[in-house]
Amino acid sequence: MSIAENILKIKSELGDSAVLVAVSKTKPVEDLLEAYKIGQRLFGENKVQELVSKNEVLPDDILWHYIGHLQTNKVKYIAPFVSVIHAVDSLKLLRTINKEAKKNRRVIECFLQFHIAQEDTKFGLDMEEVEAIINNDAFKTFENVRITGVMGMATYTSDKEQVRDEFRRLKFIFDTIKSRHFFGHDSFKEISMGMSGDYKLAIEEGSTIVRVGSLIFGARQ
Ligand SMILES: *Cc1c(COP(=O)(O)O)cnc(C)c1O
Repeated sequence: MSIAENILKIKSELGDSAVLVAVSKTKPVEDLLEAYKIGQRLFGENKVQELVSKNEVLPDDILWHYIGHLQTNKVKYIAPFVSVIHAVDSLKLLRTINKEAKKNRRVIECFLQFHIAQEDTKFGLDMEEVEAIINNDAFKTFENVRITGVMGMATYTSDKEQVRDEFRRLKFIFDTIKSRHFFGHDSFKEISMGMSGDYKLAIEEGSTIVRVGSLIFGARQ
């Protein structure tokens, strides 16, 4: 199937439950354009340099989602245009995003990344660390970042029940943070979970944003 057909199929499965971020890392701009032509506007990248290069040549109305681990010294390169940063995992990173967003007179949406997988190789916060960030006095002064949700990656396993449990945990974490800190804030509403292998499970467990790459563009080279 073509890139266009893959996107249309996934979108029809998502319905109104969740939006699709097409994860285009390592893919050539021609592939992104094929997706763009049938209306795809949300694209996910995980390398700063690659994202900057693609942004230079692709249409302005693309909404770029940065989904990788982000180093503070690289925030300045994407701050002028990035739409959402999915993997915020420290106060230091949040402070830098706020500073760079301010220079650009922008507000950048951020998701707090949680560690839900069993593997300890994956980045992410636990509940205690998130509380420490949100309750920090500095955090309250950040006017150029808006925390709009949470993000997580499940363990890479064929055990569906384990993956489901991990997604459930992220949903629970979202609900907890929402009630404690963002009650009545409509902007805190996103749960970024689900990839090519597990997005259907993620939808069942409350995902609002899925990040799908290989199922759209083919396996990684
Ligand atoms: C690569 C990547 C994806 C997409 O993975 P696929 O299995 O190719 O769909 C989603 N989220 C993150 C954080 C990624 O790095």
